[in-house]
Amino acid sequence: YHEFAFDFFKLVQQWPPTFCKLHRCPRPIIKTFTIHGLWPDNYTTFLDSCTGNSFHMFKNTAFVQNLTVRWPNLDYYSNNRRFWSHEWEKHGTCSENLYPQEAYFNLTMQLYDRLNLLEVFAKSNISPGASGNQLLSRLNNSLVAYTGKIPDFKCRPGPSTTTLIIEVVTCYNSSGTAIDCPVSQLSNSCKTQSLTGISSFETHYPTQ
Ligand code: 5GP
Ligand code: 5GP
Repeated sequence: YHEFAFDFFKLVQQWPPTFCKLHRCPRPIIKTFTIHGLWPDNYTTFLDSCTGNSFHMFKNTAFVQNLTVRWPNLDYYSNNRRFWSHEWEKHGTCSENLYPQEAYFNLTMQLYDRLNLLEVFAKSNISPGASGNQLLSRLNNSLVAYTGKIPDFKCRPGPSTTTLIIEVVTCYNSSGTAIDCPVSQLSNSCKTQSLTGISSFETHYPTQ
C-alpha cells in the first residue's frame, strides 16, 4: 500500500442521544459517549481518501467484544462490521504504515479508555441534559482542565436557534500522546448558532 503522511490523530467520540435524534437507532439508546472514529489528519487538509488494505473481520472474539462496547454502530440500517469497515477504509488506512488494522483498532480503544468524557464532565458538575449559552465553553474548560489540551466539538442544529452537541474531539500525535487540536477545524458547527442560541447536551430523543 501507499504511505500517507499525516500530522496528527483526531479521536472522535459521539453522543448517541444526538446522533439518534437525526438517525433511526436500535433501542435502547446508549447514554455514554462511544467511538465514531480515529482520524489521521493533516493541518491543512482533511485526509479521507486514502487507500490501503481492505477491512478484514477480527477473528478474536474477545477483541470483537471489546470493540462492540466501545465502538458500536448506532445506525439502525447498518451494523458494527460495516461501520468499522467504513471507518477503517476511509480513515484508518491513512495511518496504515504505522498502524495496521489490529494496531489501529487497539490504539483507538486505548485512547478512548484513557478519557471517559462523562467522568471528566462530571468533575466539572456537567451532566447529560445540561444546556445553556455557556455550555460549549464549560465543556471546553472542563476538558482543558483535565487534559491540559484543547479539544474540539461538532454540533448539529437543534430546535429553533439551539445546537446539539454530537461529537467531542481530542487530538494526539502519531504515537498517541495528547496534543492541542488545531483551533476549530470542526467547532464552527457549534459556534455559528451557539452565539445566539443554546448548546445542548441532551438525553431525550424522539420516539420512532
Ligand atoms: P460531517 O459532515 O458529518 O461532519 O462529516 C462527514 C464525514 O466527513 C465524516 O464522517 C468524516 O469521515 C469526514 N470528516 C469530517 N470532519 C473531518 C475531519 O476533521 N477530518 C477528516 N479526516 N474527515 C472529516
Ligand atoms: P464518517 O464518514 O463520518 O467517517 O462516518 C459516517 C458514516 O458511517 C455515515 O455513512 C454513517 O451513516 C455511517 N455510520 C454507521 N454507524 C454510525 C454511527 O454509529 N455513527 C456515525 N456517525 N456514523 C455511522
